[in-house]
Amino acid sequence: MALFAALEITLVLTMLAVYWVSSPARHAASAPGEGLVIAQQIEGLAHDVHQTAKLIARHPQTIACLKSGAEDLCRNQAANIYALNEGVQIFLVPEQRVNSQAGDASVLPEAYTRFVVGPDAHPTAAASMSLTVSEPVVEGTTQLGHVILTQAVPHLQDLFDTLPLPGGYLELRQYTGPGTYTVVRRRGDESLKTGSAAQEIALAGTPWKLALWKDSPRPAIALLTYFTVWLVLSVLLTAMVWLLYLRLRTWINEDLNAIVNLVTDIRRQRVRSSYHVNLAEFEKPLAMLVKLAQLTVGKQKEVESQASLDHLSQVYNRRSFDVRQGELFKTLQQGQVHSLLIIDIDNFKYVNDTYGHDAGDQLIAQFGQALKVHLRASDFVARLGGDEFCVIFPNTPLPRAVELAERLRANLPAVLELTPGVLHRLNWSGGLSEYSPKDSAENMALIRADGALLEAKRGGRNMTRIKAAA
Ligand code: GH3
Ligand code: MG
Repeated sequence: MALFAALEITLVLTMLAVYWVSSPARHAASAPGEGLVIAQQIEGLAHDVHQTAKLIARHPQTIACLKSGAEDLCRNQAANIYALNEGVQIFLVPEQRVNSQAGDASVLPEAYTRFVVGPDAHPTAAASMSLTVSEPVVEGTTQLGHVILTQAVPHLQDLFDTLPLPGGYLELRQYTGPGTYTVVRRRGDESLKTGSAAQEIALAGTPWKLALWKDSPRPAIALLTYFTVWLVLSVLLTAMVWLLYLRLRTWINEDLNAIVNLVTDIRRQRVRSSYHVNLAEFEKPLAMLVKLAQLTVGKQKEVESQASLDHLSQVYNRRSFDVRQGELFKTLQQGQVHSLLIIDIDNFKYVNDTYGHDAGDQLIAQFGQALKVHLRASDFVARLGGDEFCVIFPNTPLPRAVELAERLRANLPAVLELTPGVLHRLNWSGGLSEYSPKDSAENMALIRADGALLEAKRGGRNMTRIKAAA
């Protein structure tokens, strides 16, 4: 889920970034800024011309000219100024000649007295792209007149035509009289002019202003498209991550079940050779667990069989007999019938005393093996202690057990070789009985069989006696 959230956030941020980079609002906002570069450049030009006019107005000879009105003095000064500022027209206008229109240098009537007129070096440029500024000439608090300076600015055209203007339509308009302007230069797609109103940018210190028509902003559908794409991608991503999550959950559940199965099999002591898992990451660790489990179960089985068997005869021991008897006793109430035969080797002591304890052990061991060989697989044989054994015949009524006991007596070997050269004639006595649902204790059938065994011993040995339940 954390991965999913991270992917979602990344997607949203990416979409926002893409939208911001290509946002029409962002481009629209940048257009006036680019237009102002042109405005700043033109205003810079005007400022330079103003600075020149200011320097001339403050010059002592200019002041002397306008103060005295001496034509020679003025002509000399004008000639000096012209020598320093070629390509300009310079007017030195005494205060008494200035009427209300004189401040507007761009429309200075020809009728005004001009002390100096520069050569019309650029008559065309001067007519269309020239800049006229007026600067008062002051001495103390007395205004003596004006310096009027007209400078041709042909390179303004280059500036206007080459400075950056991404999109839109731009006009340079020149003041031609109160409230009237004429277009002196234009750039861009003029068809935009028919649309919305222009943005007007006044150019300080000049008779010009800029009129800008921006590109129409992108239709709102762009935002809608971005939102739709984002939504679709988001839904797809969500679905993908969700499906992946479900698949992964199923795989992990199944793989954990494989581990649960292994643990169950360990408990049942039936570990399989391999267990299927979906995720490759689980394969190795599980294979190691299976190996360990097989080893453990093998050891466990060995220990358990050792614990349940009699070490000498290799048939079940007394403890196993008690457990098995207990299990079968419980089934009597469900109508099941079981019988038992208790066996005691005749004159065992004689073997011990005559051939030694080892020969006695051999007799016990060989007798146990012989019993296992000649009984059914379903019969349960245990050594109860000394030379005494007991066989339980599960699901066998007493008459059938009598047949089995007789068959056993007929089939067991008559002679056993206990140690090399020592042969012993095998005789045994048996006591048969049956388990009864009326018995108040598990061992009552064993007590009856023991009684029958005693009868067999007393009766002369090497025989089987029967004692049925009352
Ligand atoms: P009976 O015919 O009446 O059964 O006489 P018996 O000589 O067989 O006497 P009994 O069954 O009472 O004797 C069992 C003897 O077995 C007693 C004991 O010394 C001996 N014995 C008990 N356990 C072992 C054993 O593990 N190994 C050996 N060699 N002898 C054992
Ligand atoms: Mg005996």
